[in-house]
Amino acid sequence: MNPDEQKLTYVLGDTIPEPGHAVTVSDGVRWVRLPLPFALDHINVWLLRDEIDGRQGWTVIDTGVTRDNVKALWEQVFETTLEGLPILRVLVTHMHPDHVGLAWWLCQRWDAPLWITMTEFMVARLWSRPAAPGSSESGAGGETALAHFVRNGLTDPKVEEEIGKRSSYYPSLVADTPPTFIRIMDNDEIVIGGRPWRVIVGYGHSPEHAALYCDTLKVLVSGDMVLPRISTNISVFSFEPEADPLPLYLKSLRRFDDLPEDTLVLPSHGRPFKGLHERVAQQHAHHAARLEEVLAACRVPCSANDIVPIMFRRKLDTHQITFALGEALAHLHMLYYQGTLARVVGDDGVVRFSVAGH
Ligand SMILES: [Zn+2]
Repeated sequence: MNPDEQKLTYVLGDTIPEPGHAVTVSDGVRWVRLPLPFALDHINVWLLRDEIDGRQGWTVIDTGVTRDNVKALWEQVFETTLEGLPILRVLVTHMHPDHVGLAWWLCQRWDAPLWITMTEFMVARLWSRPAAPGSSESGAGGETALAHFVRNGLTDPKVEEEIGKRSSYYPSLVADTPPTFIRIMDNDEIVIGGRPWRVIVGYGHSPEHAALYCDTLKVLVSGDMVLPRISTNISVFSFEPEADPLPLYLKSLRRFDDLPEDTLVLPSHGRPFKGLHERVAQQHAHHAARLEEVLAACRVPCSANDIVPIMFRRKLDTHQITFALGEALAHLHMLYYQGTLARVVGDDGVVRFSVAGH
């Protein structure tokens, strides 16, 4: 455990659900863990006992990626955990593949509706479609992504080649999306199992991320907005190259300030914990420290790619490099839009940032 983590309380200790089985974390709330084919090797999903229009059953929050082994684990969960009742609703926090990847299958399998914010639905729907005929572009990869990384200083030909080929990355993990959805919005109250859950929308990690808080249970399903061990990825991506997501994220974290100190946090990665306010404070401190480092580095002109080894001191694979470079750029952009950094495009076409007025 790292020192920050030691200040949190893992309420269930080392307990982790067995594959295909659930662990009860609160009244009517069960924790299931599904594998991911990344360095980040799992996602937590949640089953909430529910009743809709007089039917008894379950609401699922988040789904895992489209992979046969994940479907097989779900089938096992249906056997071991649902007490013979159906899935009545599929609720998704945001459009990242590990969260929305099997929504289409779960909705079909149980004839259940998808509940999600509108922006997350639209982006998932768009990106899960294959590229138009004759185009190498799908929303999440291909030439636009490659140009973005090269413009921000990426020079490794092997990584460039891999990124250029990744236009099918999103659809390979999100094979489809349901054709219809039920829109959830910030501050909506959703009744699940007779209890109100409030939608808390957050920005900076994904377009319109929904966390859910139940005051009766004092439980927060935090999605990816608050994680106990790793920091939430905040990236500038190729489809919105001028974005400034870090202030959006830091401001969104403030939405959790008025929740009770003893809130049980159910994160998408890692283990359920208490210590929400401590963890939010750690995130503010983490980004403040990274901004300091970035600013110090920019005494000489730096591209986002130059910043990556300063912010991430370990070896990264291609998937991680795309996130790391996006994250470096998010910190550069925050300082740039504040007026602390200036930027110039070099003769080589690479964008470099340096301390304004120097
Ligand atoms: Zn995410």
